[in-house]
Amino acid sequence: KNAEEYVEKVYERIGKVENKVRAFITLRPKEEVLKEVKESLTRKGKLRGVLIAVKDNISTKGLRTTCASKMLEDYVPPFDATVIQKLKEEGAVILGKTNMDEFAMGSTTETSYFGPTRNPWDLERTPGGSSGGSGASLASGIVDIALGSDTGGSIRAPAAFNAVFGLKPSYGTVSRFGLVAYANSLEQIGPMAKNAEDLELLYSVISGEDWRDATTIPQHPPKVEGELSKTKFALLKNILEASQPEVQAVFKKAIDKLSSEGATIEEVELKYADYALPSYYIIAMSEASSNLARFDGVRYGYSKYYDGTWKETFAKNRGEGFGLEVKRRILLGSFILSAGYYDQYYIRALKVRRLIKDEIDNLLKEYDVILSPTMPVLPPKIGEVIDDPVKMYAIDLNTVLANLAGIPALSQPAGFYNNLPVGIQMMGRYLSDYYLISLSKATE
Ligand code: GLN
Repeated sequence: KNAEEYVEKVYERIGKVENKVRAFITLRPKEEVLKEVKESLTRKGKLRGVLIAVKDNISTKGLRTTCASKMLEDYVPPFDATVIQKLKEEGAVILGKTNMDEFAMGSTTETSYFGPTRNPWDLERTPGGSSGGSGASLASGIVDIALGSDTGGSIRAPAAFNAVFGLKPSYGTVSRFGLVAYANSLEQIGPMAKNAEDLELLYSVISGEDWRDATTIPQHPPKVEGELSKTKFALLKNILEASQPEVQAVFKKAIDKLSSEGATIEEVELKYADYALPSYYIIAMSEASSNLARFDGVRYGYSKYYDGTWKETFAKNRGEGFGLEVKRRILLGSFILSAGYYDQYYIRALKVRRLIKDEIDNLLKEYDVILSPTMPVLPPKIGEVIDDPVKMYAIDLNTVLANLAGIPALSQPAGFYNNLPVGIQMMGRYLSDYYLISLSKATE
């Protein structure tokens, strides 16, 4: 591969689409990138000379990492996240840092301090979120691989809305060291790509145990190849019925194709589905309120004010540094965790999480894969859900299940409704990541 030609083409594409789509918060200068690509091509590596887009909540040494927040507008990390270190070892070169919802809180990339990213398929619509910039960087033809993070669907929503592939890995298979934490017990960094082969390659590079993240596990997910004709799929009936008719129509066509290729598909009900969103949001906000305490303008973040009492200083810096949605979640999370309410909300949400996990694990004893649309709606128009938080939270119904249960979930294109992408989600048993990817390859 010719380095000059490759890099030239990528920046040409950026020049054409980026001022409309706005997938990136930070793009690196072309000369710097070209130099690194050339250098990388002289070495060995699974990703030598390949450009990658990285979500802006993953720490990159010497490269601004903002979490799409005013709070971290000027923050330049002095270290690389483990996944970045692994990517560099395999020869990948970072092209830039992608736009996202502020601190990954959102489903449309509209809560970003830097303004929204637009969906390359329809510029009036959102690319999903929170890894919307990574999704749009793929769909707009700038890069072939990208990194996202997924706490409750943030890789899969943009994968679905951009007609690309995304994997929320089994919990503990990818190091979170260097990922700016939102809700630790739910989230994983994961790969996004334009086909299942690249998804697999990227996952194989970023996964593995890491002494700097004690929740990573020593085992590797086994490289099992699935066969469609031998696979038993469970279709989540109540979740499908809660989807927009347009989504149902596209999804059903994809399912028919699966059956025609020999797959067994049976409808099942998830008894506790209605409790998934409340449980998820209570847990996510609780963890967020604790994690975001470090951004006080002293240890980290925006620090315009430093006179007055500690309390005044913190309040002013945090008041100006955080956006509306982040503040809402810190306040709700602090309330939920306060004395008197902790048992009623937090502990109860954890119990519900266990019920949901058990129900899903039991289902996966009988079936190999659980199927549903990735998102219950078509890509929302910009401004459509952002002013109504409950409406925004509601579109995460299908995706939060896998985060609550810690299991892998893959989103891939199902088809289009009037040029608008619809995604299909496959959830599998814990550590069945490669198995899901192999099924995805089989249906491509
Ligand atoms: N939309 C969900 C939330 O706001 C999920 C976001 C994510 O996965 N980071 O919490």
